[in-house]
Amino acid sequence: MDTNNAVFLDRDGVITHDPPHYAHRIDQLALIEGSGLAIKMLNDTRFKVIVITNQSGVAKGLYTENDIEIFNNGMIEQLKQVNAHIDAIYYCPHHPEAKMEKYRIDCDCRKPNPGMLIKAEEKFNIDFKSSFLVGDKWSDIEAGRSVGCKTILVETGHGLLEYENKKYYVDYVAADLLDAVQNFILRMNK
Ligand SMILES: [Mg+2]
Ligand SMILES: [Zn+2]
Repeated sequence: MDTNNAVFLDRDGVITHDPPHYAHRIDQLALIEGSGLAIKMLNDTRFKVIVITNQSGVAKGLYTENDIEIFNNGMIEQLKQVNAHIDAIYYCPHHPEAKMEKYRIDCDCRKPNPGMLIKAEEKFNIDFKSSFLVGDKWSDIEAGRSVGCKTILVETGHGLLEYENKKYYVDYVAADLLDAVQNFILRMNK
């Protein structure tokens, strides 16, 4: 079976704006400018586009898994309007100190752990070495690095603040997702 190349995307602060107190209501949903076009360019280059997102707001009792589904479906709809397609979305609802017992585990899927990446690798036969991860936090970058993806920190969302507190090596720092795709991922992929 052929392997696939993927671009793993964090959701909040990379594809969509990340308002204070956890994006979860549909009225908080807004695409970051250019993110739809960036995803379409990845679709056209035959990358699998896979969203991996920590959603510990569920563990904290702030919203439900159903709210995540509604928000994600809204995002998929908005992306469709610019012919952009997401191949899969994985989320982690856990937190080790969760208020809700059901979600109180030290899981392997909460980034910086690579559990969601590994799930996607198995399902889509991903070659991590020729894949990329784009995030706005060091926890994203660490997850990507730990499996051997090239990593990109965007300056949208929490990115600028995170960059000031530089923690790890990152392959590229991008203004936003569109910059990451146009000026790094597609050039590296030639
Ligand atoms: Mg984020
Ligand atoms: Zn988890």
